[in-house]
Amino acid sequence: MSEIMHPQSAVHNTQALIAMIREHYQSEDFIPLHAPCLGQPEKQTLNTCIDSTFVSSVGQFVTELEQRFIDYTGARHAVAVVNGTMGLFLALKVAGVESDDLVLTQSLSFVATANAIKMLQADPLFLDVDSMSYGLSADTLENFLNEQACQKDGMCVHKQTGKVIRACVPMHTLGFVAEMDRIVEICQRHGIKVIEDAAESLGSFYQGQHSGTFGEMGVFSFNGNKILTTGGGGMLVTDDAELASHAKHLSTTAKIPHAWLFEHDEIGYNLRMPNLNAALGVAQFDRLPGFLQEKATLAASYRHFLSQQSDLTMMQGLASAQPNYWLNGLILPDQASRDVFLQQANEAGIQTRPLWTPMHQLEIYRDCLRCELPQTEWLAERVVNLPSGVKCHG
Ligand SMILES: *Cc1c(COP(=O)(O)O)cnc(C)c1O
Repeated sequence: MSEIMHPQSAVHNTQALIAMIREHYQSEDFIPLHAPCLGQPEKQTLNTCIDSTFVSSVGQFVTELEQRFIDYTGARHAVAVVNGTMGLFLALKVAGVESDDLVLTQSLSFVATANAIKMLQADPLFLDVDSMSYGLSADTLENFLNEQACQKDGMCVHKQTGKVIRACVPMHTLGFVAEMDRIVEICQRHGIKVIEDAAESLGSFYQGQHSGTFGEMGVFSFNGNKILTTGGGGMLVTDDAELASHAKHLSTTAKIPHAWLFEHDEIGYNLRMPNLNAALGVAQFDRLPGFLQEKATLAASYRHFLSQQSDLTMMQGLASAQPNYWLNGLILPDQASRDVFLQQANEAGIQTRPLWTPMHQLEIYRDCLRCELPQTEWLAERVVNLPSGVKCHG
């Protein structure tokens, strides 16, 4: 890889990059990493929602947001939920994940991916990410399953522990899409369900197909920092009618529909997205094409700028994918120059931050099973997220 970068050269690059960012945003003020764009359309749908008095989990906007999702992603079914984390929990639950199961996922992710697995008393098993897609590595997955798993009573079993490997959760890092055709094929061969953590990848496509629609289920997030926001919210998508109706049923206390009787046929949850949040989402959805276009333009500006800097590159993703450029990732030569950059940019009022601490390095997940994770550690030491929000005019 590159030789160690001297702080002086980091200064030179950093000042030029800060100038480029200020030029793009036409601002001398603090520039956040990613701020939501809200305005008149959101206020209007919120007012309509309030006037309707349907502000909780039943209402036209919840249904409308689900339909928008179906139309946009090409999934057959969509279930709106309170947030992405609980969407993952619900997807794993209806996929049949039980206590003591193993769920394959990547160490390089936001903590919610592993937390959702733990909520079912199952354990994450951390695999490496791919150097090109930044998502779960299909090669690592294949090698792991060939060497460490076997079939028993129609289930995929981890030889060393005897535990069932029930599901696999690839995550589309920063909106770059994982190699989904291979991941799905490998998991199908081993009898493992695929649930995509597509929290960051609304608007990202792989070989022309929307992220989140390759596996059995996919889950999106509308947290305040995501490409679209509902305040808090999430969406579970699937082509499977039974999984969709089970997820919806469990998200609404497993109440049997009836005009007045309260009957519940399972221990359910209260995870349905409120209509107020969905109203925000419906207004936001109209802006998605504009957001995507502006983000692609900014990503191209970063790439252009950095093509003139010999020691720096931007994260690109697979050639067969079309990312949403949710967050731009700058790859620095090493951890020391990353830290110099973070210090300088943040002091200059340009909000930048590293990737997440990989899960296997967190105290809470330290004891989980894992493979060698060289690519995870390489990226975690070097990547810095640059401001990536849209310029908002209300
Ligand atoms: C944001 C995010 C989530 C969780 O979504 P919330 O809506 O905040 O609960 C899960 N996984 C990843 C990778 C995320 O970035």
